[in-house]
Amino acid sequence: MNKTVFANNPLNRTANLRNNIEWINSIKRDSNTKYLIFYNEKPLINPSIDHSKNSEIKLFSFEQLDKFIDRANYLVFLGQNGGKSLFAVDLSNIEKIKENTEIMEEAKFIDVRSIAPNLSSENTGILAQAKSMISWNNTYTFCSKCSGVKLEIKDAGYKKLCNSCKTEFFPRVDPVVIMLPIYKDKCLLGRQKIFPPRMYSALAGFLEPGETIEDAVKREINEESGLTALDVEYKFTQPWPFPFQLMIGCLANVKDDVLNLDQDEIEDAVWLSREDLNRIFVGKSPQRIWIPPAMAIAHQLIIHWMHN
Ligand SMILES: [Zn+2]
Repeated sequence: MNKTVFANNPLNRTANLRNNIEWINSIKRDSNTKYLIFYNEKPLINPSIDHSKNSEIKLFSFEQLDKFIDRANYLVFLGQNGGKSLFAVDLSNIEKIKENTEIMEEAKFIDVRSIAPNLSSENTGILAQAKSMISWNNTYTFCSKCSGVKLEIKDAGYKKLCNSCKTEFFPRVDPVVIMLPIYKDKCLLGRQKIFPPRMYSALAGFLEPGETIEDAVKREINEESGLTALDVEYKFTQPWPFPFQLMIGCLANVKDDVLNLDQDEIEDAVWLSREDLNRIFVGKSPQRIWIPPAMAIAHQLIIHWMHN
C-alpha cells in the first residue's frame, strides 16, 4: 500500500454512472448509501479521544439527513466501496446544522489539512476526492465564458453547464512539480521565507501550460537554485486537496553543485547527505534543520532517495 497521505482512495468512482440521473436518484435513499457532510469546506469528523485510535469521517444515512438533503447547496457522488455508495453533501447554507445535536453529537467540522494525520489512509483518500470536489463546486459557480450566468450542476456534481452559451466545465486539477536535485551523494533542500524557522524542503512549482513534467522540473530547479538538471526521474504523485492540486514527485541529477539562489523564492538551500538526513530524522541536526512531516510528499521523496 502507498503510504502517502491522500493517495489511498478505496472508492470505485463508477464515473460512467454519474450522468444516469435515474440511477443516482435510486441509490440516494438506499439503506447502504452514506453521506459525509461539509460545512465551509470542512468535513464533519468524529475526533478520537484515544490517541491509539484514528479519528473518522462521520457518515450518515439518507433518513438521518432527510430534512437537510433537499435544502443542501449540492450533492457530489463520490463512488462505491463494497457495493455501498458514498456522497458528499455541502450544508454550508444551513447554519443551524452546527446546533443540531442529533447530527453533531461529539463530531466537529475540522479542516482537512489539520485532521489528515489523525485519519486512516483510506479516509484521507476519500477526503482528497471529496474536498477537491466541494472546493471546485464552490469556486466555479458562474460562467466565465459568457456574461456570468449561473451554472447548472450536472453529472452528480462532476460537470457544470452554462445554459446560455452551452459551455461545459469539468473539475480541474492543478499539477505541481516537486523535486529533489541530486549531485553525487547529496540532495538539495531549500527554504522559502514563509517556512517556519529552520524548516527545509524539496523545491516545487506549478506546471505551466504547454510544458512537460520534465521541462517544468528543469525550469523550476534552474529558476530557484541556478542548477542545471541533466535528467528527471518521476517517482510518485500525491493528490493535495488545497484546493485541487496534484503533487508530482521527481528526482533530478544536476550538472554541478554551484548554487545561484533566487532570493525571492529561496532564501537558503543546503546540500545534505544520507547521513545528514538521518541526523535530521532523529532530531540531531547540527544546524537544527527539520523537514516537513510525513503527510507531505517532500518527506516521502526524501525517504525514498535515502533508501535507494
Ligand atoms: Zn456561458
